[in-house]
Amino acid sequence: MSEYNLVIGLEVHSELNTATKCFCRCKNEFGSEPNTHCCPVCTGMPGALPILNKEAVKKAITMGLAVGCKINNHSVFERKNYYYPDLPKAYQISQLEYPLCVGGHIDIVVNGQAKTIRLNRIHLEEDAGKLIHDHEGTLVDYNRGGVPLIEIVSEPDMNSAEEAVAYLEKLRSTLLYVGVSNCKMQEGNIRFDVNISVNKPGDPLGTRTEIKNLNSFRAVQRAINYEAQRQIDVLDDGGVIIQETRRWDDALGKTFSMRTKEDSQDYRYFPDPDILAIEIDEKFVEQVRLSLPKLADQRAIDYKQMGLSIQDAELLTSQRMYSDYFDEVLSCFNDPKFVCNWITSEVFKRLNVDESDVIDIPVAPNNMAKLLKMYKDGEINQAAARQVLDELWKNDSDPASIVDAKGLRQLNDVSAMEEIMKKIIEENPKAVAELKAGNSKTMAFFVGQAMKASQGKANPKIINEIVNRLIK
Ligand SMILES: [Zn+2]
Repeated sequence: MSEYNLVIGLEVHSELNTATKCFCRCKNEFGSEPNTHCCPVCTGMPGALPILNKEAVKKAITMGLAVGCKINNHSVFERKNYYYPDLPKAYQISQLEYPLCVGGHIDIVVNGQAKTIRLNRIHLEEDAGKLIHDHEGTLVDYNRGGVPLIEIVSEPDMNSAEEAVAYLEKLRSTLLYVGVSNCKMQEGNIRFDVNISVNKPGDPLGTRTEIKNLNSFRAVQRAINYEAQRQIDVLDDGGVIIQETRRWDDALGKTFSMRTKEDSQDYRYFPDPDILAIEIDEKFVEQVRLSLPKLADQRAIDYKQMGLSIQDAELLTSQRMYSDYFDEVLSCFNDPKFVCNWITSEVFKRLNVDESDVIDIPVAPNNMAKLLKMYKDGEINQAAARQVLDELWKNDSDPASIVDAKGLRQLNDVSAMEEIMKKIIEENPKAVAELKAGNSKTMAFFVGQAMKASQGKANPKIINEIVNRLIK
C-alpha cells in the first residue's frame, strides 16, 4: 500500500432545515406518515409549476460564506434527467453550469498536521423520495421528494481515510454552527459520496471509482480503506481500474460494482424553463454575511483568551452544541476553567462523545451552573457532585433540592471534623508515625477514614488542614 498514493475527493449532500420544501409549500419534516407532505409540484404532476424557496437559497449562501466560497450573482437551475421510482418527474432540479457558490476551503488538522482542503463548489438541488424495501416488495415515500439539499463538492485534496473523516467532521461541525442543516445521520440528513483513485508517485492520476451514499464517518473510513486496497490489488495483478460507481456493503465490509460511471452529458442537463435564473445582489450577500454566527475558529480564540488550553478550546468548539452550552453555563457561573474541566470530563463521559451523531445534553445550563457553584463553594464534594449530575441527567431539576433530599451537603464544620479526626488519629498510631516520617501518601489514608466516618460528606481540604495541624 505504501508505494501508492491515495487520492480522495468527497461530495457531501446535506438537507437544509427549511420549514418547507425547495419548490413548493409542502412541509420539510422527517418522520411523518408516508406521502402526507406531497403536492402536484413535488410529485411532478403535469402543469404544476415550481416556486423557489428563498430561505433555501439563503441557507445555501450562508454555508458558502462560512467556508469562504465566492457567491455567484447569477445562478441557474437545471434539469438532471434520469428515471428512478423515487423521482416521479424523471428529472431532478439541480445546478450544473452556474452553481450558487464556487471555491472556498475547509481547514483540517490530522496527527498535528494542518492542511487545507479546497472546495470546488456548493450547489442547491432537491432531494428525491425514499424507497422502502421489505419482503413483500418495494414501497415509495415522497415526503422527502423536493426537500432542499446542498451538494458540497471538494477538490481531490485528501490522501487518507483519516483526512477524509477529519474533513467531514469539520464540514458537519460548520453546517451545525451556521445552523442550516440538522445533520442527523440516522435520519439521512447528510450523506457522502467518495471518489477515490490510487497512483504511484510521479505517475498521472489513476482512474477513479465512486462509492455512493455512505451515511456514517465510520462507513467512509472503512470504504476508503477497502476500496484503496482493492484497486491496488487489481493494479498489482496487472489489471485496470474501470471508472464506475460502486456500492458499499457495511455488513460485508466490501464495495460492489453498481454501474459504469456516467458523465454529466448522460443526464442531458438543460436549464429548467419553469424557474427563472437567480440574480443575487451584493447587498443580499452582505446581509447574510453579517448574520453569520461566530464560528468554531473564532470561538476557540476567545476561549484561549479566557485562559483555556488549545486542546480544551478545540474540544469545546468541535460541536456548536458544546460551545453554546459552555457559553450558557458561563453566563450563570463565570469560571471558564472550572466549567470547562467539568464539561470536558464529566459531561463528555456521559454523552459518550465517541458517538459521531448529535446528542443533546439533558441538563439545563442554569442547573449545571448551580451544581458547579455548589461544588466550587465547597457545599458538596466531588463524589456528591457526580452523584447529583447522574440524577440531573435522568431527571433535570434544581440541584440544591437533590443535595438536600439525599443529604449530600459537605461537612464544613471544622470543630466537628476535628473531633472525628482526633479519634482517628488516636486509633491509628502507625499511620501517624508514617506521616511524621514524611510519607505523604499516608494523608490519603486519613482522608479515606474521615470520609468513612462522615458517610462521604467530609471536606477533604479541611481534613488535610486538620491532619497537618494535629500531627506535626
Ligand atoms: Zn409539494
